[in-house]
Amino acid sequence: WKNAPPTLRDIFLNGRTFGAREFLVYEDDRATYEAFARATIALARQLQADGVRKGDRVAVIMRNLPEWPVAFFAGILAGAIVTPLNGWWTGPELQYGLADSGTKVALVDDERLERIAPHLDELPDLEKIYVARLPAGADPGPRAARLEQAIGPVNSWMDLPDAPLPDVAIDPEDDATILYTSGTTGRPKGALGTHRNMTTNVMTSGIAAVRNFLRAGQPLPESDPHKLPQRSSLLVVPLFHATGLSATLGPTMNAGGKIVLMRRWEAEQAMQIIERERIDATGGVPTIAWQLIEHPARAKYDLSSLVSVSYGGAPSAPELVRRIVEVFPGSAPGNGWGMTETTATFTSHTGKDYEARPDSAGPAAPVGEMQIRDPGDGITLLPVGQVGELWVKGPQVVKLYWNKPEATAETFRDGWLRTGDLARLDEEGFMFIVDRAKDMLIRGGENIYCVEVENVLFDHPDVMDAALVGVPHKTLGEEPAAVVHLKPGGTAGEAELRQWVRERLAAFKVPVEVRFWPEPLPRNANGKILKTELKTVFEARE
Ligand code: ATP
Ligand code: MG
Repeated sequence: WKNAPPTLRDIFLNGRTFGAREFLVYEDDRATYEAFARATIALARQLQADGVRKGDRVAVIMRNLPEWPVAFFAGILAGAIVTPLNGWWTGPELQYGLADSGTKVALVDDERLERIAPHLDELPDLEKIYVARLPAGADPGPRAARLEQAIGPVNSWMDLPDAPLPDVAIDPEDDATILYTSGTTGRPKGALGTHRNMTTNVMTSGIAAVRNFLRAGQPLPESDPHKLPQRSSLLVVPLFHATGLSATLGPTMNAGGKIVLMRRWEAEQAMQIIERERIDATGGVPTIAWQLIEHPARAKYDLSSLVSVSYGGAPSAPELVRRIVEVFPGSAPGNGWGMTETTATFTSHTGKDYEARPDSAGPAAPVGEMQIRDPGDGITLLPVGQVGELWVKGPQVVKLYWNKPEATAETFRDGWLRTGDLARLDEEGFMFIVDRAKDMLIRGGENIYCVEVENVLFDHPDVMDAALVGVPHKTLGEEPAAVVHLKPGGTAGEAELRQWVRERLAAFKVPVEVRFWPEPLPRNANGKILKTELKTVFEARE
């Protein structure tokens, strides 16, 4: 048992010591840690035979299949920089990711193959494609092979030979991953992370979880995986984002936990799995928690195994904390803030701490520093309580954007990362996200933080989802307008919702218009509302 594995290979070897414990469950597929390790080593050796050398880029583009973590660690063991691409991307977006990263070998599933196949001519660096789950008889096309030829189907992984690891020297400061940002504010940027960035995150998330439980006076989750019953989490966010990746690596490779994957998010199916697999942790993004809470069939299922419902990645209404405590009494709510550039979670808190500060994302991880600086000059430090731009520093913060020197120079300065988020800190170091700098509205000189108005709308009993956007105004510059999705049976109208905000916030923050969206608000894979899409409903306005 190693306490501080310095590279992802050590993290992998640590995971292997859990041997016959179950690692992955996906529909009828089940794999133990040992089976996973054998498949990973077999694939890593195959990648080496294909000519993958240290620093080459190996992309993983699949839905949340058991083959995903195998592909990820196989690339790592072969010494490659592993580049997970967003499985929601279209063909041209995937072409951008593959070309931008200069990927040499891609590990994809059959659906992603279909999307990239028309772009192969534009991808001269891409030498080989391994395809998982290609239907029998289908032709993988030029440069492609079936992934199963190298490792077989999941349930046969235990029968693979016990082969040695590829002989590649890996240093903690070597580049390990390129993770793409969500693209909420522009074209996705590839954040280049080292082994130390990744392992720091895997280690500190475990330490932060124990700290958070102790601080909050919650019962401590069992900590010796070799003696105690296995913990299990339901992963419902994509593995390709920093959040999903770290939510998988921490509880498994570190603590011997089981991860259950879903083909696609569906609330009722998630509840069936929670009951059947006795899931103790789930969450990921706030919308997932909301959908479980609001589901009409929730009472049909035994969800009492849950001890933690935690999320991050997008603003969450303070109301959510109260609802989790009410609906899942045995479970601690948790919130965390992080960015792709911080290799996932950077601040977090749980239970009573979070209940006491339902609009905070918690204190920094044990090895993270935070500063609030004047957003104008990016230098002057602001005092406790004042809102400014959040800057962060720590061994989990990546060093640069791949291929983007200008964005790198703007964001990474003297070892500090400029987050683009407006926030404040309290006396105890708890961080409160106020808004994204790019989302904040200025109405005739008055600052309006979208998150504040959205939270008030969320508190209305009829509101399921809400977003505030700026609409142009001749003299004031911009004005706030709201887009709202009502709960089933909700009847609130525009006048009622405007009045609701007027009673709770200053007049200049009241949306000048409220539009109703018939479906859940459009969000990207990380649970973030696509505000540019919402703005189009106001375009025809006077
Ligand atoms: P891009 O950088 O490409 O525009 P993005 O910033 O959405 O996309 P990510 O790295 O996935 O890409 O997301 C990080 C951002 O998510 C943070 O900067 C912050 O704005 C938001 N965020 C993360 N966690 C929280 C949280 N707990 N509360 C509020 N916002 C959060
Ligand atoms: Mg960002």
